[in-house]
Amino acid sequence: MSSILRNIKGTKDILPEESIVWQYLESKIHMFFKQYGYSEIRTPAFENTNLFKRSIGDDTDIVTKEMYSWIDQGGNNLTLKPEVTASVVRSYNQNSLGKKHPINKLYYIDTLFRRERPQKGRYRQFHQFGIESIGSKFPEQDAEVLALAYNFYHYIGLRDITLKINSIGGHNTRKIYKNKLYDYLLPFKNDLTDTSQNRLMKNPLRILDTKVDFEIKIIQNAPRIIDCLSEEDKIHFKSVLNFLDEMDIPYEIDNKLVRGLDYYSRTVFEIQSKSLGAQDALCGGGRYDNLVENLGGKPQPSFGFAAGIERLILALDIDQSIIENNPDVYIVSLGEKSIQLSMKIANSLRLNNDFIVITDTLRRSLKAQMKEANKLCAKYAIIIGDDEIKNNEVAIKNMNTGDQKTEKIDQLESYFKVSK
Ligand code: AMP
Repeated sequence: MSSILRNIKGTKDILPEESIVWQYLESKIHMFFKQYGYSEIRTPAFENTNLFKRSIGDDTDIVTKEMYSWIDQGGNNLTLKPEVTASVVRSYNQNSLGKKHPINKLYYIDTLFRRERPQKGRYRQFHQFGIESIGSKFPEQDAEVLALAYNFYHYIGLRDITLKINSIGGHNTRKIYKNKLYDYLLPFKNDLTDTSQNRLMKNPLRILDTKVDFEIKIIQNAPRIIDCLSEEDKIHFKSVLNFLDEMDIPYEIDNKLVRGLDYYSRTVFEIQSKSLGAQDALCGGGRYDNLVENLGGKPQPSFGFAAGIERLILALDIDQSIIENNPDVYIVSLGEKSIQLSMKIANSLRLNNDFIVITDTLRRSLKAQMKEANKLCAKYAIIIGDDEIKNNEVAIKNMNTGDQKTEKIDQLESYFKVSK
């Protein structure tokens, strides 16, 4: 016998007992995000590689090491989406969404691909939900999205979360700060890891993201970006924080938070969960005022975030019993006529009573079918034996109380309408 084939490292099957949790969370995302006036956008699974190079940044980890890119049979350089913002902005420009609405409040749930080193909470195919609000430069927009993200985690039952926030200023601020940081770090150059030495030349800000202990010590005394903010940057940031205070959203200002991607400006944030361990970021995002223009559109200030679904599931200890998925009825059929009738009754209860109804398709014994009904936690079992068929009746067993009664077949719908 040949050996069984296996999935690719860093990918996961979502098996039935897990997929109910996914469906539950997805339905909550749809509902909650709509409450804030956001509409869903769906973009293709792959795009031109150039889109990601231009938006995420040439010297980011994603672009240099992690993209699944290939040349297709027509010679096009394509990439499986490693993040969603670039695709949404591409679509926004291409479909002139800005002409249809002065502000576009969009959300998504999507599948992403990055060739990272797999570990708990980090996969090569993973899922994100997120927001892109395109069109407002005002701090209330930042605050709305921050509140949405924070409140969503609360709503879904996460308590041990921390919102970390920082401002990295506009383009000019970052230019000035980059030089200051470079001057500070240069004397430590030989102490830095190879990755950081590389970043020192290209984008020293990213060294602030380091998780390496001795580098964390070095940057402890580094100049702070907050001290380089322009007056406008400062007013914007203060105003965002005021809105958060007004809404009772707790936060921590983290001057080392810069986020990995190139397109951010001013507000950046992350929400972390203590229960996640090393990969503690539940979501991250910020303001990206230049991206729409960089991808060929008219300038449009924007704000967004992306949140990992796998990490959310890891952080949440979901009580499966809150997810209502048990069958209303399990129909036990015994013999050919009974099977026919079971299919008919099942269809009618699904259509007319909105019931979840399971029928046996293995022609098992009465005992085996009752065992299955129990295992699935069905609320009722309907038993269709020969005697019952003769009388146009079925037996109904309440699986909780054990009570059993007979009922005319043509009365079943109304019986269950009353007893549900
Ligand atoms: P990013 O797009 O890198 O800012 O990530 C946003 C969020 O997506 C993170 O906070 C994680 O929750 C999640 N995430 C990012 N990369 C991965 C990955 N490789 N595997 C699982 N979740 C991820």
